[in-house]
Amino acid sequence: MTTADTLILPFDELGSERLAEVGGKNASLGELIRTLAGKEDLRVPDGFALTATAYWHFIHSNDLHAQLQGALDDLQPDMRNLAKVGARLRQLVLDASWPDDLTAAVADAYRALSRRAGKRQLAVAVRSSATAEDLPDASFAGQHDSFLNIRGVDALLAACQHCLASLFTDRAISYRESRGFAHMKVALSVGVQQMVRADQGGAGVMFTIDTETGFDKVMRITAAWGLGENVVQGTVNPDEHLVFKPLLQDRARIPIIDRQLGSKAQKMVYRRLSRKDLLTNREPPTQNRPTTAAERARYVLSDDEALQLARWGQVIEQHYGMPMDIEWARDGREGPLYIVQARPETIESGRDRGRLRTWQLGNRGPRLLRGLAIGAAAVSGPVCVIRKAADIERFVDGAVLVTTSTDPDWVPVMKRAAAIVTDHGGRTSHAAIVSRELGLPAVVGTGKATETLKGGQVVTVSCAEGDQGFVYDGEATITVQDIDLSEIPSTDTKVMLNLASPAAALNWWRLPADGVGLARMEFVISNHIRIHPMALLHPEQVDRKSQRLIRRLTKGYADPVTYFVDRLAQGLARIAAVAYPHPVIVRMSDFKTNEYANLIGGAAFEPQEENPMLGFRGASRYYSDAYRDGFALECRGIRQLREQMGLDNVKVMIPFCRSVKEADRVLAVMAEEGLVRGQEGLEVYVMCEVPSNVVLASDFAKRFDGFSIGSNDLTQLTLGVDRDSATLAELFDEQDDAVKWMISTVIKSAHEAGVRVGLCGQAPSDHPAFAGYLVDCGIDSISVTPDSFVAVKQHVAAAESARQGAAD
Ligand code: PEP
Ligand code: MG
Repeated sequence: MTTADTLILPFDELGSERLAEVGGKNASLGELIRTLAGKEDLRVPDGFALTATAYWHFIHSNDLHAQLQGALDDLQPDMRNLAKVGARLRQLVLDASWPDDLTAAVADAYRALSRRAGKRQLAVAVRSSATAEDLPDASFAGQHDSFLNIRGVDALLAACQHCLASLFTDRAISYRESRGFAHMKVALSVGVQQMVRADQGGAGVMFTIDTETGFDKVMRITAAWGLGENVVQGTVNPDEHLVFKPLLQDRARIPIIDRQLGSKAQKMVYRRLSRKDLLTNREPPTQNRPTTAAERARYVLSDDEALQLARWGQVIEQHYGMPMDIEWARDGREGPLYIVQARPETIESGRDRGRLRTWQLGNRGPRLLRGLAIGAAAVSGPVCVIRKAADIERFVDGAVLVTTSTDPDWVPVMKRAAAIVTDHGGRTSHAAIVSRELGLPAVVGTGKATETLKGGQVVTVSCAEGDQGFVYDGEATITVQDIDLSEIPSTDTKVMLNLASPAAALNWWRLPADGVGLARMEFVISNHIRIHPMALLHPEQVDRKSQRLIRRLTKGYADPVTYFVDRLAQGLARIAAVAYPHPVIVRMSDFKTNEYANLIGGAAFEPQEENPMLGFRGASRYYSDAYRDGFALECRGIRQLREQMGLDNVKVMIPFCRSVKEADRVLAVMAEEGLVRGQEGLEVYVMCEVPSNVVLASDFAKRFDGFSIGSNDLTQLTLGVDRDSATLAELFDEQDDAVKWMISTVIKSAHEAGVRVGLCGQAPSDHPAFAGYLVDCGIDSISVTPDSFVAVKQHVAAAESARQGAAD
């Protein structure tokens, strides 16, 4: 029966149980409105759906069934005549007329919607939501047409009719053929939704997990000016916010752990079209305009807005009980935010969580390009540059597909590619989404891949180095490690990770580590900041070239100091987030003077030393006139991380602390900078890496919450072997009895003094069996590089059970 309430359903009456009637898209909008609207002030634009029943009513009242079937029967098996058949099918639908009852129902629903919005003729978007009888939740993403900014009943009916006809776009027909859907069993429900004027505001996508690693404690939000289409298609490089979920409910914090300003070169807006053009879809209703310099320099979302979206994402994710892929839009420049679509994220969440596969690169050639890494794989292959979809026949199977950006027409060649590299696009671009689905490494948004790479050239595409993806010349060596997480035993001794790269930190979240035992701040400075802190404080003292570089890198930040503090806090935040709520020990910077001098602007502030290993490093710098102000910036970064972001699992560690007097001086400087040991739960550790730390362990123990043994320096200084000397490499042995004596002694002294002691030097990472010795000494924790984590865990478990056996 076709009464008005079977033909039209308002969104607030829809939900998953209506999937078969209104398709996945409309059902999910209804579900959001009905169950979530208002929670955390979540807003979803109002609207109604023309149901599958309405579609069939339209078809049958025009006697179209047999005619459509007849036209489909003419489709040749190889689909050579697809364009002709498609055009005929669409024309059949376009030539039909609306049955009166359906016209009346649509008109009534539209007027009611306008009234609710307080408008005479509300501007609406008309979107497809296809539904298959036998598989109601099939996605059909991107197969059909949408019509935007439609006003008035006549225009609306015409737009709905074009939407119905788009069930027979060539790509929809070929999609159904390839998936084995019976054409005449698929119906098209139409969604009519209040327009959000994102053309005057902005839009983007939010994933409630990290799309590259599946890390489920962060949301990734992308944003660009104008309609969301550019973000989805990847025609712009959007802004990106990474929000840490566990602290979202703490309103005193700003748990945005990363922000990247996208270039956002263009924005999609509506064209002024004649009514006829709008209805016939003859002219595209939208166009891209270049953004202004001011727009490019600004984030689309304020921090508050990013947090609001993230809270909505959390509500939606909790409601569905699974990771979600959400589209959002902002109505006008300062207007309210809306959620315009939400669907389950299927790729990362569908992956085998019991395994962790990692790729490592050796012998790489020169770096040719940099972009965003999609996935974590790496692969080598010959390049095939294709700029237009019309040329995709030229693609060679197994090649690296290099193009500007992709859309659904590209999927057949993407399936045959070894990797994908694009000029434009962010993490939610079509190229990124499809590559992820296909399990292919992709480097998107390189800016110039189609210019830089040449057909036939062999390259290595690497997504194995964290967030950033790289393309290297030639074929690198690629080692793949496959970890079965179920084989990792649990241990009483804590096994932690040494993490240095903020970009790659998220790759390791699946390892059952007890925290991060060593996060070397100097690595974050060299990779993530690149400028000497003193040069940021006194740019007038550095050479011209460095001044230019400093200006370029710090663009978009309030001032050079904010650049340092923000970047430091964000770089460390990724490492702290991966381990949260387990402890993360951040060691204050421990470059040697030659390494500090290599930072941008560094040469002006660093002395030339004969032996930097034994020189002006570690604790001695922090209270010195030459570096105290730089150290203050390090402290500010830590405070931002702990106090503003809320990552209070972070502890601080002081390296290379030669004397007890030095310890006191450093702790005093830290306190002046607001890092007071014991306040707000702040723990301060000291490295045990100078023999004096062992000799006077009980004195150091009075000043710190724990020790972390740096076996690299402790070996150097116990055996008198320069750790950098190739000539003496043979003599550098962390397992020498003298070093072992040092280690066992400090463990005993620390425990007698009632403080914890761990080890974070390289020894157990290189020789996992050494972990057994540490367990026998009663060490509390061992911190190792991620690649040796499994082996160390196994050795620790074996040593623990041997001890247990001996005790029994
Ligand atoms: C060590 O000395 O063992 C240590 C972990 O510190 P680094 O290697 O950074 O000097
Ligand atoms: Mg050291």
